[in-house]
Amino acid sequence: NRSIVLASRPHGAPTGANFRIEQGPVPEPGAGQVLLRTVYLSLDPYMRGRMSDAPSYAPPVEVGGVMVGGTVSRVVASNHPDYAVGDWVLSANGWQDYALSDGRGLTRLGAAPEHPSYSLGLLGMPGFTAYMGLLDIGQPKAGETLVVAAATGPVGATVGQIGKLKGCRVVGVAGGAEKCRHAVEVLGFDACLDHHATDFAEQLAKACPDGIDIYYENVGGKVFDAVFPLLNTSARVPVCGIIAHYNDTELPAGPDRLPLLMGTVLRKRIRIQGFIIFDDYGHRYDEFYKDMSAWFAEGRIKYREEVVDGLENAPQAFIGLLEGHNFGKLVIRVGAD
Ligand code: NDP
Repeated sequence: NRSIVLASRPHGAPTGANFRIEQGPVPEPGAGQVLLRTVYLSLDPYMRGRMSDAPSYAPPVEVGGVMVGGTVSRVVASNHPDYAVGDWVLSANGWQDYALSDGRGLTRLGAAPEHPSYSLGLLGMPGFTAYMGLLDIGQPKAGETLVVAAATGPVGATVGQIGKLKGCRVVGVAGGAEKCRHAVEVLGFDACLDHHATDFAEQLAKACPDGIDIYYENVGGKVFDAVFPLLNTSARVPVCGIIAHYNDTELPAGPDRLPLLMGTVLRKRIRIQGFIIFDDYGHRYDEFYKDMSAWFAEGRIKYREEVVDGLENAPQAFIGLLEGHNFGKLVIRVGAD
């Protein structure tokens, strides 16, 4: 049983030295337990937060502890009356090959799910995040302009496509021409801009001639700076993530723009609201799942994954996620299904 543990806490961007791979025996299931073998491991930006011991909404991984993460697994041995060998489950076994469970926290995926790994993306936590943040906080209306960055990732791609279903004009922001082309040609966004362009702020202003009514905040940084002056009166800003800042070690150098921000929020009656998906919306999961699985089945929502083979490659893939090297939902294929 291989597991990847947190070797040390990063200062700034994580490096390979912050992780260590360990070998141990495959655990034996006790009475009432199942043994799960990981097939897919989800890599997500929040894991950067768990590597740090700064105060957060969830406790950190201890140094020497197995990295946390959502997994899709198969039952390989069972002493549990409700689970049979071969069953697929959604679990949170972290970065390792095998784990035991007494059934608590497992979600059944049936005997032969068509796309098992999608439960880690479009049909799971990231899709749910896109759905609730946009619909509940963003309150999209037909004809409004919606801007979303990380536009080809599982959250951003889904936000933009739901925005189109609701009749918005959707402007994506992504890293590079290929991602932008995908956002327009495959996901159906009205426009998509490369945030690396030196004239990105001017391009965004041109792409949003009527201003911005909803900015779904995934990144912060230069993207927020370019969006902020374009926000309309009564704009909504669901604050989902600020990935551009996850590796920051200090506050940015001045000038202090807090008075400008707060003054604008006041004058334009802008609503900025953060949320933590399962804490705030766990009770609405069924509503999401029903809508999203129907939209996906009808071909109204498209989904792209980037699957990397091998648990040993998880650290480098995760480091790359924070820098935009992934193109689609990043998943590690840990074991053969
Ligand atoms: P993605 O797969 O989209 O990966 C993150 C992407 O962020 C990268 O691929 C990169 O895309 C982009 N990015 C990284 N650095 C920068 C930067 N400096 N400026 C602009 N873009 C950058 O991730 P997810 O879809 O899983 O997550 C998106 C956001 O949602 C994250 O902030 C995450 O923390 C947040 N989140 C919040 C939840 C909540 O409950 N509040 C739940 C789930 C996710 P590109 O190359 O296109 O720039």
